Amino acid sequence: MSGSVIVLGAGLAGLSAAYHLNELGIVCEVFEKEPYVGGHCHTKQVDGFNFDEGAHVFFGKDEYSQRFVYEPLDKDLNHFHADIWNNYGGQRYGRYPVQANAHALTPEQTTRCVLDFIAATQQPEQTVRTYAEWCHASFGKTFTEEFMLRYARKVWTVEPEELNTEWLGSKVGGRISRPSLEQVVRGAVDPNPQTLNYLTEFSYPTNGGFGRLAEPLLAGVQNLHTGCGVAKIEAAARRITFTNGVIQHYEDIISTVPLPTLVKLTVDAPAEVRAAADKLMWTSVRCVNLGIARADVGTGNWGYFYDHDVPFFRISFPHRFAPGNAPAGHSSISCEIAYSRRKPLDEAGLVERVIDCLCDAGILQHSDRIAIQDQTDIAYAYVVFDFNRTASLAIIHAWMESVDLYPCGRFGEWGYHWSFEAIESGHRVANRVFERIRKA
Ligand SMILES: Cc1cc2nc3c(=O)[nH]c(=O)nc-3n(C[C@H](O)[C@H](O)[C@H](O)COP(=O)(O)OP(=O)(O)OC[C@H]3O[C@@H](n4cnc5c(N)ncnc54)[C@H](O)[C@@H]3O)c2cc1C
Repeated sequence: MSGSVIVLGAGLAGLSAAYHLNELGIVCEVFEKEPYVGGHCHTKQVDGFNFDEGAHVFFGKDEYSQRFVYEPLDKDLNHFHADIWNNYGGQRYGRYPVQANAHALTPEQTTRCVLDFIAATQQPEQTVRTYAEWCHASFGKTFTEEFMLRYARKVWTVEPEELNTEWLGSKVGGRISRPSLEQVVRGAVDPNPQTLNYLTEFSYPTNGGFGRLAEPLLAGVQNLHTGCGVAKIEAAARRITFTNGVIQHYEDIISTVPLPTLVKLTVDAPAEVRAAADKLMWTSVRCVNLGIARADVGTGNWGYFYDHDVPFFRISFPHRFAPGNAPAGHSSISCEIAYSRRKPLDEAGLVERVIDCLCDAGILQHSDRIAIQDQTDIAYAYVVFDFNRTASLAIIHAWMESVDLYPCGRFGEWGYHWSFEAIESGHRVANRVFERIRKA
């Protein structure tokens, strides 16, 4: 069956859409602006080091994970018990999440955390609207104000009162775990790590980095054009222009291009759609990647930093996920810094500030030789679930539907998709296009 279907973007969602269309007997063409596939799941090679786009690990539990990751990559995966920690300033550390491991705080802080948590559990059930309200009701004042909201401001770059609670649920469990009183008390007195998280175990490729995840899908995709982005869409005429100047007619477009970009590129998008797209909020992430000429840098898999004077909100150690991620005798660190139109990135001396903070935190030693410095900019990293999102999305998606543009993936559906949810999104949209063509 043919219907001149175009897929925009060869991240996991676009590859999955093309793979499933292929299975359904529909010919499509995939166009990707970058010279490589994988989108956010791409792994970059820099002088013998592999860097993913920030910390990327696999923990899907659904049929897509089974079919497209665990089965085909089987022997090429290492499996881990997650070892995640928090930095509480200077060289003070504790296991993540704080609400189940409060013993690592000062005794005074631990006491306040437990007492405030008990006070919160004694409150009558209340309706919460904002993320800030949800945190207060779930964790009490001290956990909320000193950890959850502080971190939220740093990573989401907006005030926690501007966030709704829609993003907190997830297929693999709540994104931020609510402990029982017993778990809080246990964590306050027991120095053994308490796990309380959707992510207790994960897998990671033995070699080649997280980017390997694209391979099984890629094997089932034809007509792929990399280094060829969309430059212009004329929706009424069903005409698309690519960055290489080629103009093509289409019947359906599956788009994984971030919605604000897609709307800008569609020259005849109505004014109300443009206004809705302008209201969408997201964060970007700058990764400062370092290769260190020392083998044993860091402990655990990754850690979170709450302090706003520290530029990064999270650091991870790629060499600890797979030895091949760094040359022998070397380590690697990826430091993620959030920014947005609400909180622009302060680029002045960024790498030096990152290195200073890593030394203050005891991760690096002043004597360490930095073998390589690299930066990756993730222009669209996380969708911000503010109170404009739902209404704006309804307007944009309704318009897209009316002109045979099908949104797909993390930034087409504009959600908090993990990699396996991006694969599922591609399958869903392939079925929709198949049905449209079948009924035509
Ligand atoms: C910092 C970070 C950490 C993450 N950690 C994890 C994790 O640990 N585990 C996990 O499962 N998931 C994680 N994710 C989520 C995961 O990366 C995404 O769910 C997944 O990559 C989304 O795939 P996608 O295909 O929907 O989007 P993308 O990967 O964004 O793919 C979209 C594609 O469209 C292309 N494109 C854009 N504009 C154009 C254009 N004009 N023309 C043509 N092509 C275009 C892009 O180049 C890209 O290849 C993380 C994400 C981020 C940002």
